[in-house]
Amino acid sequence: MRLTVKTSAQTEMIDVTHLVQQQVAENSFQDGLCMVFVPHTTAAVTINESADPDVRKDILMILNKIVPWREAYSHLEGNSPAHLKTSIIGSSETVAVEKGKLVLGTWQGIFFCEFDGPRTRKLDVRLINIC
Ligand code: ZN
Repeated sequence: MRLTVKTSAQTEMIDVTHLVQQQVAENSFQDGLCMVFVPHTTAAVTINESADPDVRKDILMILNKIVPWREAYSHLEGNSPAHLKTSIIGSSETVAVEKGKLVLGTWQGIFFCEFDGPRTRKLDVRLINIC
């Protein structure tokens, strides 16, 4: 399944856990693996704390320090920092599904990470049966 995620800032982390869980439910998927994949070079996906929004704020603050916007980048499009952040965070996550529910820790959520927004983005969700 391919979901649409509309982002509203240059850099942000959007909790998409409910959208992914909705795909699991709509497909009556009970047990296996759920893979989420971001088919973009300037957006990523990660799993981290969903309870306190300040955690996302801190992650983005430090990412912005590690990868400065102004640097002697060669990429002419001007968005090298977004490409770098995407490689640091990664393009996919895999979560187990048990009895129709994503098996996430109490404080965990799945986050779509925008690094060159705002844009309309895609998020692939694949449900994998395992024996
Ligand atoms: Zn680029």
